[in-house]
Amino acid sequence: MENRKLFDSNRLKRSLKRKGDAANCTVKLLCQPGFPLYYMLRNLGWLKGERWWASLSLRARRVHAIRMLGQRTAIFKEVKNWRQNRKTSQIPAPNTADNLSAPEYCNKCGLCCEVASGMPDFPLPEALPAGWSELFGNGLGRGHRFCPFLWEDNFSRGGFCSIYCLRSNPCRLFGPDECDFFWKSAEPDELSDGRKILKTGRWLVSHRNLRPVSPRPLVRKK
Ligand code: SF4
Repeated sequence: MENRKLFDSNRLKRSLKRKGDAANCTVKLLCQPGFPLYYMLRNLGWLKGERWWASLSLRARRVHAIRMLGQRTAIFKEVKNWRQNRKTSQIPAPNTADNLSAPEYCNKCGLCCEVASGMPDFPLPEALPAGWSELFGNGLGRGHRFCPFLWEDNFSRGGFCSIYCLRSNPCRLFGPDECDFFWKSAEPDELSDGRKILKTGRWLVSHRNLRPVSPRPLVRKK
């Protein structure tokens, strides 16, 4: 049986577009190619199991989820602009063999990138825009449960790292055993059941006034 953790986000996006209003700016933001919608919905699924989240009122949860989504869309936009504007020659690739494509054992489930924050030990920190290293180290803020740089690959399904050739050293150390562990671990239905994911997606697009919120103020000053 196919592992449900490798979710087809294209179907989800099509469905949200059908059910949502074409003018709904939240739908537009969530359904952009590459936007990590599935990981965002999994993120909310993880939060349902956390005590602090459960203790919030329905309204507070809603406000918090929208804020998180605003932060997520802001960093997505920032990375997208950076990817569009950069010239490959401006980004010297670290001299390692695993630089350009994922290792063979990687099935692109993206589960290894479900981390709120990681050690900001980048091989070429100067090649990243100012503040990204800190953002990786501190995370996007309360409630975020996956890396700011994780995107979705809407062509072949699964996730992909939007800064792959410049990713941190801890990301490069992730091996087949750890990968296998995440892939085979049991998890709540909430996270990969298509119907539940879609329900959460519809709940999100019912908020029509989403605007990107800069993640910058959340970066702690040294
Ligand atoms: S930097 Fe890339 S590889 Fe590392 S956790 Fe983030 S998305 Fe995953």
